[in-house]
Amino acid sequence: MIKHHVSDDLLMGYATGGLSEAFDLVIASHVSLSDDARARLSTFEALGGAVLEDSEPVELSDDSFEATMARIMGSAPAETVESSTKTMSRHSVFPKCLRDYVGGDVDAVNWRPIGLGVKQAVLNTGDRDATARLLYIPAGQAMPDHGHNGVEVTLVLQGAFIDEDGRFARGDIEVASEETEHTPVADIGDDCICLVVTDAPLKFNGLLPKIAQKILRI
Ligand code: ZN
Repeated sequence: MIKHHVSDDLLMGYATGGLSEAFDLVIASHVSLSDDARARLSTFEALGGAVLEDSEPVELSDDSFEATMARIMGSAPAETVESSTKTMSRHSVFPKCLRDYVGGDVDAVNWRPIGLGVKQAVLNTGDRDATARLLYIPAGQAMPDHGHNGVEVTLVLQGAFIDEDGRFARGDIEVASEETEHTPVADIGDDCICLVVTDAPLKFNGLLPKIAQKILRI
């Protein structure tokens, strides 16, 4: 049962093709795991279609127009159907849009150890100002406490983590901003796998993470 849902502004940005590729990926992944997000998305897609009809064509780049039309014409619902039928029963950790990106499921990820058993893989989204990465946190392991210079969107794909805002399990999304300081800890049980998208470097409070940050691009 998903308890932490995506915000309206992110979902609307996704529906209208206004997000960068990294944010598109994390919202699309959340939408394929969440009935609630799918229902709200269809409202915004209808709205996006109406906005498009009222817009001067010159306001949209070729790309965003095509991306918006693709969504309105049904590429998002197609994935919805796929993910809600056989795919999930095969116990994929990643929703289809993410598997397409990675070239497979968890086993296909090129994980790099970053200490304390934590592994990450930066995904090649082609975005300059946003970074998408997969994080693998062993059950019970804490992440360094940190603040944020921008937005950080975290989607849980396996296991769960707990921080100052509650417990986040598969399908749950956490949006942290410049006001947020937190220390996520992977819950006991399954190791925690998350898709994390940031649009600015994190602010770490400890000295060691600050040094590691430069090397690890987090
Ligand atoms: Zn954070």
